[in-house]
Amino acid sequence: MTDILSIRDLTVEYTTRRGTARAVDTVSLNLEENRTLGLAGESGCGKSTLGRAIMRLVSYPGRIVEGEIIFNIEEDIQAEKHSINRGDVDLRELSEDQMRMLRGKEIAYIFQDPMTSLNPMLSIGDHFTQLMKAHDPEIEKEAALERAGELLDSLGISPERVKDYPHQFSGGMRQRVMIGLGLALRPKLLISDEPTTSLDVIVEAQILEEMAELKEEFNLTMILITHNLGVLAQTADDIAIMYTGRLVEIAPTDVLFEDPQHPYTQALLDSVPDVTKPEKKLSWIPGAPPDLVESPPGCMFHPRCPFVMDVCREVVPSLSESKIGGKVACHLYTGG
Ligand code: SF4
Repeated sequence: MTDILSIRDLTVEYTTRRGTARAVDTVSLNLEENRTLGLAGESGCGKSTLGRAIMRLVSYPGRIVEGEIIFNIEEDIQAEKHSINRGDVDLRELSEDQMRMLRGKEIAYIFQDPMTSLNPMLSIGDHFTQLMKAHDPEIEKEAALERAGELLDSLGISPERVKDYPHQFSGGMRQRVMIGLGLALRPKLLISDEPTTSLDVIVEAQILEEMAELKEEFNLTMILITHNLGVLAQTADDIAIMYTGRLVEIAPTDVLFEDPQHPYTQALLDSVPDVTKPEKKLSWIPGAPPDLVESPPGCMFHPRCPFVMDVCREVVPSLSESKIGGKVACHLYTGG
């Protein structure tokens, strides 16, 4: 399998009045074609920033300060001044005009909140038409609307509703519209940021099922960003766990749930309610994630870790092979 995406030492910093906060800290990972990677961790762990950094959508006062984002482009992209040759391309090297050609067409991003991402003044059909015309000025409005109708239909919304406006849709339907917009240009990689947050569990289950079907139909590779490990258990092939901007563990989903290696992953999974074990007491992770402006030395998790050793307070653990076929960043497995 080809890697569609290889991230190397990607680092994103935000400048604040109090100092520099490193929101994504030397993250490296590979994503194979047609797989779904779940990015998980507590709020503020850097998972959404990492997703936006892949799209080069980190806005001021944030900026990518280091690293490579290698994306595999299958076919040459021809444009008057901004052509991109096929092959592995470092997205950090592309101009903003070239990135604009890639966004939506090669890599699409579904943002967290559909109500604020959709323009209340535009009909759903207008959203689709504008998106398609931005990439193909020749496309006729009728053809764009027909394509929009087909996409809505495959997401369980009547094609007739292209005429309607965002406020006429329920939360679940708006989320489906966002998914349809994400797929409108047939991207290879779809990054979806908390796609089912704020939806009830029944609508959530329906949308996750539809996304899984569309992934097959569109031959998609996906990154699913969520704090909800239950969602990832159903949808992701692999899970990457982030803590304070760093990748602390990555492994195939089934083995990660079976035998998590990193103490933070273990604590996260322990804090998920299990309906099959009602007698199990819910646990929580003591303390809070550190302040990113004044982060502790060594392993960022050490102030909360029950297995902390002296070395953990001084040396940053590197990501190395784990016994479950993934990678883990913890001194417990490297002997310091
Ligand atoms: Fe805990 Fe040390 Fe491992 Fe960090 S490196 S998770 S502090 S054992």
